[in-house]
Amino acid sequence: MDDILDNAPSLDGSTIDAWMGCPFAAKEYELGRQLLPDIVAVGSEIHEAFGDAVLLWCESIGSATYHQVKSAIVDRLLASRPDIQPMVLSAAAPAISSFVSFVMSVRPDNIIGFDGGEQIGKHGQLSCEIDGAIMTSEVDFLYYTGTFPDILSEIDYKSGWTFHDANSVYNSGQFQRHAILVFENFPSVDYLEVKVWNIRTNSRTPRVQFERRYLERYIERVRTAIQNRKHYYDNPPTFPTTERCGMCNVAHKCPEASNPMRDIASDPAGFIANMAAVAARLNKMEEIATAYVDAHGTIVSGDLCFGRDAPRSTRKVPAKLYEKEDEE
Ligand code: SF4
Repeated sequence: MDDILDNAPSLDGSTIDAWMGCPFAAKEYELGRQLLPDIVAVGSEIHEAFGDAVLLWCESIGSATYHQVKSAIVDRLLASRPDIQPMVLSAAAPAISSFVSFVMSVRPDNIIGFDGGEQIGKHGQLSCEIDGAIMTSEVDFLYYTGTFPDILSEIDYKSGWTFHDANSVYNSGQFQRHAILVFENFPSVDYLEVKVWNIRTNSRTPRVQFERRYLERYIERVRTAIQNRKHYYDNPPTFPTTERCGMCNVAHKCPEASNPMRDIASDPAGFIANMAAVAARLNKMEEIATAYVDAHGTIVSGDLCFGRDAPRSTRKVPAKLYEKEDEE
């Protein structure tokens, strides 16, 4: 069994999420061949800064002052990648003071793991084996509240624009995976309580509880992604939908977008699937061209221009692709 696991693929949470959707995009994601937006790098910088604060608090065995813990965050944020530093500072600013107070309210002994805690044996990275694959994920902040030994609590920092609430946390594949990892690594823990900290609004979701008795249900979801990977890895097809393609980071090389236009009369479903992929590719091209324009100015090709100084259009808004609404 150990020999088999030596060759088992190691899949992080985002890769498992990716294999629940379009196989072509998932494989590109797994191989690191995608264009990631700056917002991802902004999130990484904030996670590192918050991790530095927790590290200082633990290393000082709870003796660091408020000013020292806060400085650990601010100094790290100021040292962010220069081109995104202003975005990092404005995203993190609303939550810094509250986060420092929160960290200082938890005894270092009760902190089990955190993002950046590997230096002191409190690694937030957890792993377990499912169906011949090693699932890994990093929890931002995992701790005992100190009251009940069978309950662990998790705080997850979110610095994007998506607002999270109790419902989105409960249904999230990410937190169900964290529950699996906690229950597999801490046999005496039966409950994981999760709160998401929306950094930009400095608001926290209510505590959402995941229970060991539902472990098989959480695992089943991961199994589906692992099966998809086994099935499609060698020759991954495209599964376009407007929502998926609209957020796709490999739309610029999507094979579906390069296919010849289908005949709408004989294949209307194929026609709009192709249209979704083409639209996503065009969006990605516009993002790439916009970044170029911001660095070098308007692009001119004969009478054709691409830039921020286009004249305002008075034409009607064109018809668009959209997702069909569920029937009541
Ligand atoms: S654009 Fe859509 S179909 Fe193409 S790779 Fe991305 S998600 Fe898949």
